[in-house]
Amino acid sequence: MTRSDSDALAALCHFAQLASAADRVMAIDIEADGRATWAVSSPSLSFSGFNLARSGIFEHDWRGEPVEAAAFRLPSAILHALGGTPGSVLYIPSPSHGAPLSGLLLLWRHASAPAPMTQQVPMLAASVARLLSARREAAREVIVRNQFEDLFESVPAGIVLIDGDGVGAAINERAAELMACAPGRHRAAELAAPMRALRQRCDNHAELDQAYARQMGDVNFASKLNWTLGERTFEVDTHPVRGNGEHGRIWLFTDVTADLLMAAELRRLASSDPLTGVPNRRHFEECSAQIIAAREAQGHAVAVLMVDVDHFKKINDTHGHPVGDEVLKAVARRCREALRDRDLFARFGGEEFIALLSAPVIDEVPVAAERLRHAIAAEPITVAGVRIPVSISVGGAIGEALPGGDQPLLEELVARADEALYLAKTEGRNRVRMAEPVTA
Ligand code: GH3
Ligand code: MG
Ligand code: MG
Repeated sequence: MTRSDSDALAALCHFAQLASAADRVMAIDIEADGRATWAVSSPSLSFSGFNLARSGIFEHDWRGEPVEAAAFRLPSAILHALGGTPGSVLYIPSPSHGAPLSGLLLLWRHASAPAPMTQQVPMLAASVARLLSARREAAREVIVRNQFEDLFESVPAGIVLIDGDGVGAAINERAAELMACAPGRHRAAELAAPMRALRQRCDNHAELDQAYARQMGDVNFASKLNWTLGERTFEVDTHPVRGNGEHGRIWLFTDVTADLLMAAELRRLASSDPLTGVPNRRHFEECSAQIIAAREAQGHAVAVLMVDVDHFKKINDTHGHPVGDEVLKAVARRCREALRDRDLFARFGGEEFIALLSAPVIDEVPVAAERLRHAIAAEPITVAGVRIPVSISVGGAIGEALPGGDQPLLEELVARADEALYLAKTEGRNRVRMAEPVTA
């Protein structure tokens, strides 16, 4: 309630007091349960709460005629305010918004029947109702504003709120810290520079500048972009308030660093083999499908090498399963190191591995396979001080784009490399066999 509403209510009570010759007039805001929550009085009075629910006041049919006070059970707070038992009472119901029992209470000390107020009742009732409603509305606004301010500072995000007129702006502490400026109210123009400076500090500022330049001048634009500041990433969501730029604009800065790290870790776990750390079969198939599609488009060849550890069961049987695990890790590491960075290498299952050599020169494929074989056989693998001689057999297959083929190229290559591997095994192991090239 504004000061003038409050004064107006006091003046109205005073006017009613003069017009009625009452000893006290109170405008009271009363809840549906009869509890008075607020009052203004003439003469003025420091208000203490009271309850009129059982007074009988609300049951009486008030038409502007004062009634002997003895007919009601008035709460002691009222008797106290009047300095004793009143003689007459008049209530003018003036329901305010959300408080249906509110009204104006007139009290006369002496019982000598006061003049009826019938003429004045409609004006008084309407004025009191309007002023009490305004007071409630203002109190609600304060609550909403306090709730908003609490929310503004307590949400785990930086917020910049530009007013609808584009002139004023508010910035909460988190955003202020990010932009190295003071939190609170600002002129919107004052925030433009720190916001631009923050963007310029981002690793991806060129991309951001480009994205925002496109939106310049569009009051309704909305976007959600990641701002990368070294180790930290902020998701920056900007949109018009309530779907319309005329109501202002909000900028929300949410630190998503932990979420992104978690997502990357989950992706890594989902795509890698837990024992050896190299990609798993699923990841291999997804990636190789993409690589092959790109190679096919360019008419380049691809090659698949299937790797299988020789007599691995014997290694397990001789040294135990945990030692077998260490051997598999060492085999994976050596193979990975023997390949080029751009080749894809994965655990295909058990003691089998697979490599996809992208864009190889045809003659180099057996050489690469031989390099793998040699990387394992040249030096025993040492586990817990025990030197274990290990060898692998390798089957290779090379293919070019196979647009009209019955099977997708990858499946075809894997099947042929597997046949070649079988040959390498039957011919004595620790060797490389190449399949006939797959051609369109
Ligand atoms: P070959 O030369 O014909 O390939 O003989 P092999 O013994 O290597 O082949 P086989 O298929 O008979 O045995 C493979 C063994 O690999 C059987 C299985 O218990 C073992 N194995 C599969 N996965 C793992 C693993 O993760 N850790 C260990 N330690 N052993 C594994
Ligand atoms: Mg096997
Ligand atoms: Mg084997």
